[in-house]
Amino acid sequence: MTNPKILTEHYEVPPKKSLGQNFLHDPNALEKIVTLADLMPDDTVLEVGPGTGALTEVLAKRARHVISVEVDERLKPLLEDRLGIYDNVYLVFADILETDVLKLVGPKPFVVVANLPYYITSAILRHLLENYRRPSKLVLTVQQEVAERLVAKPPDMSLLTVSVQFFGKAKIAMKLNPAVFWPRPDVDSAVVVIETYDKPVVDVPSTEAFFKVVRAGFSQKRKQLKNSLGSGLHMSHEEAAGLLVRAGIDPRRRAETMTLEEWAALTRDIG
Ligand code: SAM
Repeated sequence: MTNPKILTEHYEVPPKKSLGQNFLHDPNALEKIVTLADLMPDDTVLEVGPGTGALTEVLAKRARHVISVEVDERLKPLLEDRLGIYDNVYLVFADILETDVLKLVGPKPFVVVANLPYYITSAILRHLLENYRRPSKLVLTVQQEVAERLVAKPPDMSLLTVSVQFFGKAKIAMKLNPAVFWPRPDVDSAVVVIETYDKPVVDVPSTEAFFKVVRAGFSQKRKQLKNSLGSGLHMSHEEAAGLLVRAGIDPRRRAETMTLEEWAALTRDIG
């Protein structure tokens, strides 16, 4: 019994929209997602939100360890019954945002494979990427619109785009029709693969300094950079304009048009 509708009825755990519970049940889609992770038999996988365990089961057959973090304790009996036969699956019932991921996965490299709860996609990405050790790869099912933001280029950058592209190379690997989920989500979905960099992709004094500048730049929507940077960094607009000119950036440009290299140049200039 693997159909999520039948499973959730049997265990009397109706899906909660508030937790982003749209369960992926199409075997082809599940296989393709795990294939994208390109797992080696010795790999450790962290899964966020196993739900009814469909993706977890495919992962269990391909990886050395699968650590699955689920916030909804109602799913415990269902998941334990379904996954009990796999001694390489470790279920943790906790909020991923409150979980010390690095403690959980141990010292070895790890990969993240997840069909994310859409309501906290950005927070989960930050939690996994803005850490002193990152997954080597992330294979994530996200809302199509978010997928497009992750791979965006100037002039369509956002804080989320910069936050992901600073740490890794993102690409949309495939699109998923709402029909492959139960219940059907109201939005289209896509699978994004993020390969993280071993070394920083741009030269900055520190990650903190870089994001302080980037956050300031994006602090006011569609404003010219001299205004958003000035307010965000608590300086006059004239001072901000001076900084931008010194870094070779037209102060009238908007944050959405900036490349990572330009943000890095500005951060270096500010010092
Ligand atoms: N992996 C399953 C699948 O592919 O069918 C379920 C994916 S469903 C889109 C998202 C899952 O994340 C749900 O099981 C939900 O309960 C869980 N979830 C939601 N918020 C969470 C959180 N803060 N921490 C961990 N899991 C969470």
